[in-house]
Amino acid sequence: MTLADQAPAAQQVTTHNPVDGEPVGHYPLAQGADVEDAVRRARAGATWWEDQGFAARRAHLLHWKSRIAAGAEELATLISAETGKPHGDALLEIMLTLGHLDWAAKNARRVLRRRKVSAGLINYNQHATVGYEPYGVVGVIGPWNYPLYTPMGSISYALAAGNAVVFKPSELTPGPAVWLAERWAEAVGHDVLVALTGDGATGAQLVRSVDKIAFTGSTATAKKVMSVAAEQLTPIVAECGGKDAMLVAADADLDSAADFVVFGAMGNAGQTCVGVERVYVVDTVRDDLVARVVERVERLRIDGPDPHYGPMTMPSQVDVVRDHVDDALRTGSAAFGGRDSVAGRVVGPVVVTDVAEDSAAVQHETFGPLVVINTVASLDEAVERANATVYGLGAAVFTKDKGAATRAADALRAGVVTINSVLGFAGVAALPFGGVKQSGFGRIHGADGLREFCAVKSVARQTRRAALNLLTMERTDKDMHTVARMIPMLHGRAKPPRN
Ligand code: NDP
Repeated sequence: MTLADQAPAAQQVTTHNPVDGEPVGHYPLAQGADVEDAVRRARAGATWWEDQGFAARRAHLLHWKSRIAAGAEELATLISAETGKPHGDALLEIMLTLGHLDWAAKNARRVLRRRKVSAGLINYNQHATVGYEPYGVVGVIGPWNYPLYTPMGSISYALAAGNAVVFKPSELTPGPAVWLAERWAEAVGHDVLVALTGDGATGAQLVRSVDKIAFTGSTATAKKVMSVAAEQLTPIVAECGGKDAMLVAADADLDSAADFVVFGAMGNAGQTCVGVERVYVVDTVRDDLVARVVERVERLRIDGPDPHYGPMTMPSQVDVVRDHVDDALRTGSAAFGGRDSVAGRVVGPVVVTDVAEDSAAVQHETFGPLVVINTVASLDEAVERANATVYGLGAAVFTKDKGAATRAADALRAGVVTINSVLGFAGVAALPFGGVKQSGFGRIHGADGLREFCAVKSVARQTRRAALNLLTMERTDKDMHTVARMIPMLHGRAKPPRN
């Protein structure tokens, strides 16, 4: 009997398979004292975990990783059941996740151990070091679209940095969170990773109780989380929505670009924060690209035993997608699909061309299998349009010209840019991930992702008395005369820059 079985139905979260509506699991709806209890347990775990040091933590994390790997089929089945995504997509999610866990475990010591920095000539008598200390308990709040990969991008790095984690998953997908915590209990056995199932209110309460928040979800919810975190100045990393654009130059490999448009826009039914929602293609190759995209979209299977993608995980998302399709068709032309594609929980692929830039379908996150393809005169114009939304998560550039690709990547206001692929960064654990503008701030993954979960502590140790000792009430007029002479010598010699 699980905890959820003992709880009255009103205090439970029940998940349903989006494919057939069948119940998948029942989980406790944590509230009030449950949240406090989870954080209290994690606090005890945090002390134990920090005391382990880098080497032991690495060993524990790698052992946990092997337990996850051993249960990958079971976990993929659970992810697939709660999200509705194909089993293969769930397996891919697990593989990517374990790559990050592996990197975080193996690199935490190198990145975070106390290191010496130069104290400078004047401060020759100081031995200066920088250290990275865990916050204590990190509250990780995750979304439902990648219920493993996305929160584990915070969890792996927070744990490797020496924090305990209380993980509050989306109420649509608590299964992987509970499963991960069970594998942790088997592999490590302390309350260092605690799963806290519940709803939005559970998440809101968690924000008030922890030392750092790692939030992944919509921009609207991030704003609510930030306002609660502000009450106690709790630091937060916010990974939010996007409206990613793909830019296609005249010299691009159009077959490859078309493959990636379809993969990036339709994969996971478009429910990907870094999915391709807009394409800006240079006019001379516009017709060729649209034809290639349509040819590939026609081959997509959305029903039957082996579909390319599943239903919308969150029922209300269907309405958002329908509104955006309607909106796109007000000014644009359907190249594939249309309003009839949004008939049930499984939304058919929709490709609309030449949509007004100020429409909702171009400006706001759709999170469904709709892609807008707009025509531009040049790569520069594509960059300008790509930058013209409130979001700035990812972007992609397709061109054979390395210089043009680099210039575009520099000019794009996004947290991550891929050149000649989409999502190419997702498995590269050393690359930090996060957004700019209303796509969020702070970074997960890579060395920056490890540092995100640490408070920086600087230590300056005086090794001897300074010849010119200014940090004393006993300093003399002669000392100050020396300082007055030194200021222009040290800092007053820079010439104006040549224009
Ligand atoms: P939501 O913002 O609706 O929810 C995210 C999480 O926040 C859920 O666990 C939710 O709980 C919880 N929550 C809801 N209200 C509150 C609150 N007031 N205080 C604290 N927590 C709360 O996002 P979705 O789950 O719908 O996920 C989709 C969004 O996530 C998209 O915008 C997508 O772009 C973004 N995303 C961003 C990624 C990135 O890395 N930048 C990656 C993946 C997704 P509950 O579900 O139980 O209500």
